[in-house]
Amino acid sequence: MKLVIIGGVAGGASAAARARRLNEDAEIIMFERGEYISFANCGLPYHISGTIPERDSLLVMTPEAFKGRVNADVRVLQEVTSIDRDRKVVTVRKVDSGETYEESYDKLIIATGSSPVTPPIEGVDDPAVLPLWTLPDMDRIMERAEKAKSVAVLGAGFVGIEAAENLHDRGLEVHLIDMEEHVCQSIDGEMAVLLDQELASKGVGLHLGVKVTAIRRPEGGNGVEVVVQKGEAIPADFVLMSVGVRPNSQLAADAGLELSPKKGIIVDEHQRTNDPDIYAVGDVVSVLDPVTGKRAMIPLAGPANRQGRVAADNIFGRESRYVGSLGTSVVQVFDLTGAHVGRTAKQLTAAGIPFRHVELHPPSNAKYYPGFSPVHMKLIFDDEGKILGAQAAGYKNVEKQIDVIATAMKAGMTVYDLEGLELAYAPPYGTANSPVNHAGMVASNVLRGDTDVVYANDLPKDAFFLDTRLEEEAEAGTLPGATVIPLGELRERLNELPKDRFIVAYCQTGLRAYVAERMLKQNGFKAANLSGGWLSWRQYHPAPLPSTARKPLRLKATEASAPSSQPEKILDVTSLQCPGPLIKVRGEIENMTDGQVLEVKAGKAFRADLEAWCGSMGHELLEVRDAGAAFIARIRKGGVTAPACNVDSGALLGVPQSASLVVFSNDLDKVLAAFIIATGLASLGTKVNMFFTFWGLSVLRKDPQPHVIKDFLSTMFGFMLPRGAKKLALSKMHMMGMGTAMMKYVMAKKNVATLPELIQNARDLGVTFTACDMAMDVMGISREELLEEVDEIAGVGKFAVMAQQAGTTLFI
Ligand code: FAD
Repeated sequence: MKLVIIGGVAGGASAAARARRLNEDAEIIMFERGEYISFANCGLPYHISGTIPERDSLLVMTPEAFKGRVNADVRVLQEVTSIDRDRKVVTVRKVDSGETYEESYDKLIIATGSSPVTPPIEGVDDPAVLPLWTLPDMDRIMERAEKAKSVAVLGAGFVGIEAAENLHDRGLEVHLIDMEEHVCQSIDGEMAVLLDQELASKGVGLHLGVKVTAIRRPEGGNGVEVVVQKGEAIPADFVLMSVGVRPNSQLAADAGLELSPKKGIIVDEHQRTNDPDIYAVGDVVSVLDPVTGKRAMIPLAGPANRQGRVAADNIFGRESRYVGSLGTSVVQVFDLTGAHVGRTAKQLTAAGIPFRHVELHPPSNAKYYPGFSPVHMKLIFDDEGKILGAQAAGYKNVEKQIDVIATAMKAGMTVYDLEGLELAYAPPYGTANSPVNHAGMVASNVLRGDTDVVYANDLPKDAFFLDTRLEEEAEAGTLPGATVIPLGELRERLNELPKDRFIVAYCQTGLRAYVAERMLKQNGFKAANLSGGWLSWRQYHPAPLPSTARKPLRLKATEASAPSSQPEKILDVTSLQCPGPLIKVRGEIENMTDGQVLEVKAGKAFRADLEAWCGSMGHELLEVRDAGAAFIARIRKGGVTAPACNVDSGALLGVPQSASLVVFSNDLDKVLAAFIIATGLASLGTKVNMFFTFWGLSVLRKDPQPHVIKDFLSTMFGFMLPRGAKKLALSKMHMMGMGTAMMKYVMAKKNVATLPELIQNARDLGVTFTACDMAMDVMGISREELLEEVDEIAGVGKFAVMAQQAGTTLFI
């Protein structure tokens, strides 16, 4: 038997090695047009940054070593230019000399791989535009990077993302450009958002949803400019092109082998082409996609290796089958991992295949064990429970979940089977119910009708949104117009919910809301659970990301930069579960004075919450740095620094020493204005007293109202007056609550403090609250109904003294 293999890397080399193990006598010839065989192309990006320090470690096998081990005739720098199927010979051209010759075969394996696509863009042939596919490609990039300060990476697939990370780690300013709205098309947009955010947080300039129209040399300048459709020109010293690959199938096409519409060689499950003596493996073949039942191009190293083995098996008389590729893949994005298997919702929609899905954020390992973080997951399945795909992203144990689901898919398991999988568990490694079990349970609950889910990108109109988290969690952000009733209080407060409206319950991840949903349904409410809760909502509604690129600030935890200011206190909340970190940080900050610094070490998942919370509470986030699976943040209490609180300096600026505000109204906008003025003056050192009278007393009311015995009129007043700061409505454009909800939403988006936050800020700044005793009497409001923060109940006499002492009195 004379076996000829075209292509000497993943698929070709594994076919040759397997062939030799099966048959010691066969003649095996392997042609490779490049200089190297069996090199680790997947490792190329990591040598660019120095993560893989030795170039030689990328050479898995040299031709000489391969010859010794496999006893194959390896002919590098020799390109097969044609196949004559009738005569069973290939024509070979020596790359160095151009000399050609023919070689006969009994069996032929085509393992020619794929090549990077060169898009038809003006300037794409500029020598500063480089692909990353082979070792020489990598060498050229490293040579360019040596003298460069910046690079534009075109295409944000796996290779583009890895190149961006490693070039950034090398010290370059990196711009990552893609025509899609998010990086990484092999996962759905709301999952890819997490990858976008990680890239942006590390300083990669993201230019997404933009089409490149030209690559130009700027007049009189160095480097190039990547011109995008929106007219922007992104300057860079060079361009790394990674916009996709196409199969190297021309040889097969010229030989009359059958190709798919995407130009992949069509093979059967034995890797045999339509010519019984010719097999094909790797990136060049069109594989069966077991999810859609259609053919697909899935260019990955694992499939190439296994297909090489299957082809050799069949050539040497072993029955072996390759039943399709699920496309299981994983990518490192700085500290984050993204992984997927099967088809995405977007792909299934395009293919017209009906599906259902659930979103969840289970912990990577026991929540009480330091360093856990959520695994953001999406499981896609059909009505029968067949698993169609899964995606995951997070800082820990991400690919493990996807590997288990990939195995389950291969074994034909359903989501019901995932519920019962027995997987390894100990606190540092996982949870007693693993994320995969968890995903199976949630999906099975949906299919069994135990829960109705709605999705954050398709919320039902006119629904009542019930936030079942704690107040502290809601402070870091909540759905527009949502009512917060913590799960622990829900049973007692069911009377506050509308029976005639559809209630969408949500919590941080979906679990507490599921309990709430079950409770509500059993109490006669129409209710559903928001799949994935607040964390999913945030994925669907991400804040815009900066497109500016900055050099790496990335430091290993041990080499962390010198602290920008000494912390007063150091707090480690890595072992606390949500909302523990927020509550702990809040408690510590409350006990500190303005300007003092708190250092917090927390799991990465808490970072977004902390940033949002600091923004809304007016604390300054001085720095955030990586510490392995955690991060370390330094927070300076209050937006107000010590000098600004100094009365003398305020006086010098012409700021009044004291001021009095009469809060008469209970319109949300007017009360907001009152508190903004009060806190503003107080922060400049003015002593401020707020006098609440008539409708203004609503602001100070407790919610829920304590039990107080009242006469009929007082009860009526109590019923009509809004109960506390959260229940106030706009004076104009209230629009049955919509306007108020919109205003709260816009304020939250713009990081404007909410009214309860402003009240708290006012207290922190020493603003005093006086409730008018006459108005309380008229309206039948007792002291117990007012917040503890009220300093005094007083009448007009006391107010007159205060007004006289105050330089300014405002009536709102
Ligand atoms: P290749 O490994 O590309 O080998 C084909 C060989 O055939 C080439 O060396 C080519 O020179 C040779 N050839 C072509 N035509 C001829 C001819 N006419 N005559 C002689 N020789 C010829 N996959 C993953 O699964 N995970 C990853 O993390 C990952 N990372 C990657 C990172 C980079 C930078 C790159 C470039 C690829 C990555 N891949 C990854 C993809 C993976 O490397 C490929 O899917 C895999 O190598 C395909 O194997 P193959 O044998 O089909 O083709």
